[in-house]
Amino acid sequence: MAAERQELKTENLVIIGSGPAGFTAAIYAARANLQPLLITGFKEGGIPGGQLMTTTFVENFPGFPNGVQGPELMDLIKAQAVRWGTKLIEEDATSIDLSKKPFIINTTSQIVKANSLIVSTGASANRLGIANENLFWSKGISACAICDGATPQFRNEELAVVGGGDSACEEAEYLTKYGSHVHLLVRSSSLRASAAMSDRVKANPNITIHWETELIDVLGNDWLEKLKVRRKNTQQEDEIFAKGLFYAIGHTPNTSLFFNQLNTDSKGYLITAPGRPETSLEGVYAAGDVADPEWRQGVTAAGSGCKAALAAERWLTKNNLATLIKREVLEPSQAETSKTLEVSNEENFNPDKTWQKGSYALRKLYHETKKPLFVIYTSSSCGPCHILKPQLQRVLNESNGKALGVEIDIENDQAIAKQAEVSGTPTVHLFKNKELKKQWKGVKARSEYKLALDTLID
Ligand code: NDP
Repeated sequence: MAAERQELKTENLVIIGSGPAGFTAAIYAARANLQPLLITGFKEGGIPGGQLMTTTFVENFPGFPNGVQGPELMDLIKAQAVRWGTKLIEEDATSIDLSKKPFIINTTSQIVKANSLIVSTGASANRLGIANENLFWSKGISACAICDGATPQFRNEELAVVGGGDSACEEAEYLTKYGSHVHLLVRSSSLRASAAMSDRVKANPNITIHWETELIDVLGNDWLEKLKVRRKNTQQEDEIFAKGLFYAIGHTPNTSLFFNQLNTDSKGYLITAPGRPETSLEGVYAAGDVADPEWRQGVTAAGSGCKAALAAERWLTKNNLATLIKREVLEPSQAETSKTLEVSNEENFNPDKTWQKGSYALRKLYHETKKPLFVIYTSSSCGPCHILKPQLQRVLNESNGKALGVEIDIENDQAIAKQAEVSGTPTVHLFKNKELKKQWKGVKARSEYKLALDTLID
């Protein structure tokens, strides 16, 4: 039976979406003492944290002269919003009623009322819809080279990327670290990517660009083996050998929640007042890619989040709807950000430590512990891993030391990843007495891990 929904008080401002737009809006609204509530999203519309979570180095965000990993940048922006008092609901918004005020937002387990709303739900990665796509999804096909590129099945194999934008070029470059050669399938005769990115790809001898080439299907047995392509100028059909295929063919705005409630353009992007964040409904603002078919940069998303928060603040004040919090302490304490965990070895290994890292800890605990053991396979640039790790750590902390966790970086411990048949990150295995009890690929709801663990705790 579904859990009863919990109804909350009316919020000044609810922000839906946890990319740079949503969290920047939250920073501004929190510093205006509005104590915003941000619904991060969970399964719908891509990964919490947005597209930066599936990017390697962001080299064009001001303030980071040497670049910054996308997930790390999002960790920092989120920490800044939380430091100033942003409240979080780490669930999906499942339905929204904008027909009356306050607005009503249903999440997976809660009902939220809001005097004003900022929509920063971003855009989701597109799929091609070719005949065998579902058959080989996660068995060679992936939407995220950055998350899955390091997995053993792709090592020293021929790989392919579809698309001609910055994502496709970035992914093709990234995959040359792992594959023997990368084929970039571009449907037109030019790249849409920035000049710097295009030049890098064109100059890389390990990348072959197939111009004016359409992917028509994929073939294989248990795992992807071949791509069927059509050369557009001759209509000739060819096969390209590839053990991995990565989609980077753009995004569709996440606006289905607002269908028939807010005005959208023909592609589904929210329409706002020119150069402004106001949508077609008073009190509702848009920020980031959900309303931006053109610029779609981390920094433009952040800028639009700032505008949306300032506009919402002005509107709430003008309409006497803002209930400001009073800060007892003027300067909030320092923000908590993710810290790097030291790899366990003979000296520092502790059999009772809830969360450890590396193959030494795994071997010791696998053979010696009587407690249930989570093993999480990650890679350094995997955005979803950043989402999952704190969730699993929370489940373990709630078990009060009755269960343990080990993190394995598949780049540093390739042999273990291969032996465990890991085909993407994050992957989680749950063991008890050396027996694999359950496994998960990708990020699942915290309750799923907790439920599985509870059945194994003595
Ligand atoms: P884009 O929309 O820029 O590019 C999508 C690409 O996919 C285009 O080349 C398009 O071809 C191609 N495509 C679309 N549909 C198909 C299809 N059915 N079959 C084959 N090819 C297809 O998306 P991106 O995700 O690359 O980038 C989104 C935004 O994020 C951009 O603004 C980009 O600059 C930014 N970005 C920035 C990065 C950075 O700075 N590090 C990294 C990644 C993205 P066509 O050109 O023919 O339309």
